[in-house]
This record gives sequence, C-alpha cells and structure tokens, in this order.
Amino acid sequence: MSEARYPVVAPGVGDFRGAAGSEPAAHWKATAAGERLVPTHCCFCGVQCGMYLRVTEGRVIGVEPRNHDINKLRLCPKGVSAYQQVHHPDRLLGPLMRDSRDGPLRPVPWEAALDRVVSEVRRIQDAYGRDAFGVLGGASMTTEKTYLMGKFARVALRTRHIDYNGRLCMVSAAAANKKAFGIDRAGNPWADLLETEVIVVAGTNIAECFPVAMQYFWGARDRGARLVVVDPRETAIARTADEHVRLRPGTDAAFYNGMLHVIARDGLTDERFIAEHTVGWEAVRDTVAAYTPQRVGEICGLDPRQIERVAHLWGRARRCWAAHGRGLEQHLQGVENVLSCINVSLATGQLGRPGAGYGTLTGQGNGQGGREHGQKSDMLPGGRDLSNPEHRAYVAGVWGIDEADLPQKGTSMHEMILQMAAGEIRGLLGMCNNPFVSLPNQGVVRAGYEALEFHVQADFFLSETAARADVVLPSTVWAEDEGLMTNGEGRVIKHNKAVEPPGEARTDWQIMCELARRLGAGDKFPFQSPAEILDELRVASKGGVADYYGITYDKVEATGGVFWPCPTLDHPGTPRPFEGGRFYHPDGKARFIAVEWRPPAEPPDGEFPLRLTTGRTVAHFLSGNQTRRLPGLVEQTPRPWVEVHPSLGFADGDPVRVITRRGGVTYPALVTEAIRPDTVFVPYHWAGAVAANVLTVDALDPISKMPEFKVCACRVERGQAVDPVPEPPMPPGERPYRPETEPLGERRSPTSPQGRGTAES
Ligand code: SF4
Repeated sequence: MSEARYPVVAPGVGDFRGAAGSEPAAHWKATAAGERLVPTHCCFCGVQCGMYLRVTEGRVIGVEPRNHDINKLRLCPKGVSAYQQVHHPDRLLGPLMRDSRDGPLRPVPWEAALDRVVSEVRRIQDAYGRDAFGVLGGASMTTEKTYLMGKFARVALRTRHIDYNGRLCMVSAAAANKKAFGIDRAGNPWADLLETEVIVVAGTNIAECFPVAMQYFWGARDRGARLVVVDPRETAIARTADEHVRLRPGTDAAFYNGMLHVIARDGLTDERFIAEHTVGWEAVRDTVAAYTPQRVGEICGLDPRQIERVAHLWGRARRCWAAHGRGLEQHLQGVENVLSCINVSLATGQLGRPGAGYGTLTGQGNGQGGREHGQKSDMLPGGRDLSNPEHRAYVAGVWGIDEADLPQKGTSMHEMILQMAAGEIRGLLGMCNNPFVSLPNQGVVRAGYEALEFHVQADFFLSETAARADVVLPSTVWAEDEGLMTNGEGRVIKHNKAVEPPGEARTDWQIMCELARRLGAGDKFPFQSPAEILDELRVASKGGVADYYGITYDKVEATGGVFWPCPTLDHPGTPRPFEGGRFYHPDGKARFIAVEWRPPAEPPDGEFPLRLTTGRTVAHFLSGNQTRRLPGLVEQTPRPWVEVHPSLGFADGDPVRVITRRGGVTYPALVTEAIRPDTVFVPYHWAGAVAANVLTVDALDPISKMPEFKVCACRVERGQAVDPVPEPPMPPGERPYRPETEPLGERRSPTSPQGRGTAES
C-alpha cells in the first residue's frame, strides 16, 4: 500500500512507516547476525506502546523500544519485561484435566480435553437449557478474538450468557460516552494534549498505570499547561499538580457539579456551543445550582475556595482537557460520575478541537476494541445493540443464521457469578480473565465457581481461576499471534507474530473454531487466520457506530494506526470524532444529563469508620497472573501493602489488619501523608488471602453494572503478622519459577523501591 493512499490523519500520526520485519526508524542496529526485529506493541495497558521483539532461532530474546507515534522510543517497567513471558518456565504447554472436583489436574491430549468440553456443554445444555452454559472473555485479547468470543457464544453455544472483564474497568465510561455523545470513543488523539492550557486528571494514577502516556502530560506542562489532579491519594502526578483536589472517595459527582455551579454562576459557560451543539443544558444548570462550593466542600472534604479556583482555571482557559480513569468510574454511580465530568466539558465547549479534549484512559491493552464487537452481554459487532431488531437482523445476516436464533441480551460478569451460585448457570468457558483475583467480594466469587458443574478455562499461565477449572486449555501470549488492538485514543494498531507457540499451546481463536466445529457449527467458523476473522468483523461492523470496515492490516501498518470510525477503504479514520461540535446522536447534538450526587454503597459508620480504596502499582498488571511471574517486576514490588496516614498511629512495616464486612487481611503498613486521614489504600494485583478483593464490596452501578472497587467502609487495627503472599499456581509436577532476589524484610516499608509515599516533609 502506498503512503499516498492513507493520508496523515492526526497530529503526529504518520511518523512511523515500519512494516513487519523492518528495522528501527532511528537506524541504529541492535541486532546480532541472524536476529530479526519484529515490530509490534506492548501486551499490557491501553497506551499500546510500540516495541520490537528481538527474535533469533525461533526465540524471543529481548525487546527494543520502537519509535512509534504513541510512545516515541519509551517503554515502562512492564513493557521492557513483557517479552519474558514468551519462553517463561511457567507456561502451560498442554491441556490439563481433572477427573473429579477434588482430584488433581493431570496432563491430557487435546483430543481428550476437547471431547470433555463438548460432552459437558451438550450435557448441561440438554439438561438445563442453552443459557445454562456461560462464557466470560477479556479485553486483553485482540479485537478479532473478542469478536469471535461473541459469535462463539451466540452461534456455537447459542447462549445469552456472555460477558467480559471490561465490565470491571471500562463500562462506566462506555455507558456515559454513549449517553452523552452517542458514541463510545475518546474525543482526541493524545498528541492534541500538547496544545491544551488546563488539564483535569480525574481519578487516574497515570504515572503508575499508564507511565508512557505521561509524556503527553509533561509535554503540555512544558508549554505552560496548568494541571489539576482529582484523587484521594497524592499520586506521583498529583505531587506535581497546580491543584491537587484530594476529595473523599465516592464524592466525585458532587465535585464536578460544584465546579459547574461556579462556572455557570460566574458566566463562564460557552452559550454558543451549548445552543448549537447540545441538548438538555437547562436541567443540568438547575441541578448544579444547588451544589454551592460550601455544600460541595462539606460532601467532598475540601476547602470551598479550591472548588472556586479549579472552576475558574477551567472556565477561563481557551483549551481544556479532561482525562479520567477508574477512580472516577469504579463506583456505584460511576456512569453518573463520568457524566458529571462530561457536563463540565460540554458547558464550556471544550471538545473537538486541538487542545480541547476528553477521554478515559483504558486499563487493558484492548480495553477499547474489546468492548466494541460483541463480547459484552448486550452488544453486537460494530457497537450494535443486541436489543435492536434492525441490528440483530443485520448481524444475523452476516453470520448466516435466523435472527430468531440469535439469543437476547444476557447479564453482567458479576451477575453471572451470582447466577452460577444460584444454579442458573451450570457450565462456564473462561478466556483471558482471572476472577479469583479481579472480582470484588471474593467469597461470593468462589461460591459461584464452586457451584459450577463444569468449568473450562483457557490461559497461557495457570491463573488462580484456571487452577480450579475442570479442564485447562493452553493458549498463546501476544507474541505468538497477530491481530488488532485499539488503544485509549481510539487508534487501531496491530500486534505482529514473532514466534510459534510453545508445546501444544493454541491461540484462543483456534480453540474457539475447533470447539465450534465439534459442536456442529464449524461452517460458521471456517477461519484459518486472524486476517480471515478480521474480514468478517469488518463487514459485521459496517454501518455500526464502531465501524471498522475501512480498517485493514496493511492500512494500520502503513499509517501507524487508524482511528475508528473508518467506514470505507479510502477513509483516513477519525482522530477527532467531535470536531466541529458534531456528535453521534441522530440530531448531531450531545446530551447533557443532570446528575445528583449519591453516597457510596457503604458509607463509613461507627464500626467501620474509614474508607478503603484500591488500585494499581507500576510494576504489576491487573490480576498479576503475568507480572507476578516476571523477576524484575516481582523484585520491584513483591507484595501488597496498606497505605495509612500518620494520624492512625502506625509505623512503616507494622502489620496492619484491614477489616471490612466481608473479611480481613493483614498487610505491612506504608505510613504516608499522601493518603487522606479518613482513607486507606491497598493495591489489588495479588491473590488468595492477601487479595484486596477479599475486602471490596460487590455493589454494582445500576447502569453499567461495574463494581464499586474504589470505596467501601473499613477499619484498621494492629495485626499479629502480615499475611504471606501465595506463590502463583503451577501445572502438575512443576514448581514456581521465582527470581533469585533478596526477600524483602517484613519490617521494611514494602514499597520503598518505588519511591512511593514521599509527601512527608
Ligand atoms: S505504558 Fe502500557 S503499553 Fe506502554 S510499555 Fe508500559 S504497560 Fe506497556
């Protein structure tokens, strides 16, 4: 494909022109004789940094940064360690099966494992109905695989019960985006940040969760942008902010309503933008009238003068940017929190221009693409709605089935767990998820899985969830397959294959196609490659709001990434979907939606007087199934801890027991003024007795069904000894691979290697 056919589509896009197998753009040679550099992207977070995998004699031996538009030669600690997964001694090399619930997992041939899966699917569906077998997917898979997950559930299994782990991190933002803008997409490429004057970072610890994205924020700062960080913790980015809004967890909507109150009161709204491009301002204006700085200060635990200052900073700037993350979204009113933030952007016309932007930072590598093409319980490919007769008819036509045979929408991931416990779902296929670490209220999660009659899990390491499955299918890491991912900007990029899978491991799409064939639906799953799946996906998405029809592998490689929607082959993509004040509701206007602040599900009380909030740390990724096995990352952060304020009377390293209504865990203390006195923080990447989700509440946002990970009531007390961190599960006959590093002393501050908690004077 020539460059001319794909014009430069966004600021910064098009710098990179490397095709598969090419050399680094900077022309330095890191290669030895016989070594190949395979251009691809990181497997971890939603930034999707470009990297080269160094390959020699069929093995990935290292990584080099890639001068891709997204990261411009930068990688974070997870990125430089990612390649160590490929030939890791913990990899699953063949299928495992147990003969009874209490029996051990043992190696079996693929034939035996697949026969068992198919016979259990048939037995359960014959006995209890098609919906009694469920599917749970994940958003770290390529878009092709996530598309196939939805199709597999609805066409091969014909069950309504499919959902995915994006339910835990992306869906509140997605629902709010759809309601406000008519499309679930970020407003701008990150390069636009360089032109902004005021940035509000809402509930996202960017420096640890999306380290390489910091270059855009620092770039804006270098050009004079003012920074506001809204977070109960003084995170690394908060330490550098002009205004750190250290609100109480669970009070976000009140804060943004208060901000908008001041903006409206002081005549700082953009009346022309409101009149020409929005609907519903009056109801929002009337609602925020009651959110005076004084009242909001009391709700949020803030000085009312800070609310005034932040509102004036934003309201008087020409170009503002709102970036948010799970701190805003993982709440009982997560969707409304996001809407309250969007209301501020809409009222001031801060959308659709360079420097005037908006977007959520997606946690998983394909957090965006993984929620667009059908593995969500209510969605069909192209962002289509499973309840819409026209959408159903279109997709059924592409799939070659009767619309009547397409199941109706199902339930969310955590609701499925409850249905498992209740006997409504009796069998489960899991791929690319680890609910035994990632879901809230672990006691309920375990009860759900224990009630299953049959559970098959596919993974490349034996996760805590796979370790309790009846059948475990060995799958591949990202370097062993190709396919598309969509990063937090809405930019579609491509992972390239570097090496063959080890042992008998198979890709997730091969596993689904083979199961479909054995279930009698092979004619609907004839795919021999990800490219063939993409060809069907493009057609299935055509005409939908998430239109990928014009996106091909060649186009992605030639341009450095294509922003969807991209409806035709000669379309350049859509880096700024809201350019010119155009939105995706039928009338082209955005929607204001009035929000009243509501308290979290578990407000503090006499028995549980503190708030527990949870989050990530730079060395680990989500449930930790990958990063808890990588030596440098384990060395950097070997265990979880609890951050407590000095006023609670503990010393660094003290065993501190965190107790909620669901359980208690004893962590070493990190005593720091970087946390509010009424709040404690625990990172959530670890499993078993030290899992933060032993403690969290499983209250769900009523719209998005996202759990309220970010706040529940707790108390802390001096413990006896810190709870030990369990080793990652291993296949039978294998012992965990552990790095030969000095164990961290129990009395030492657990996170000192990261330099966290440096707010003390
Ligand atoms: S910032 Fe995200 S995508 Fe980039 S290297 Fe780190 S984990 Fe990977």
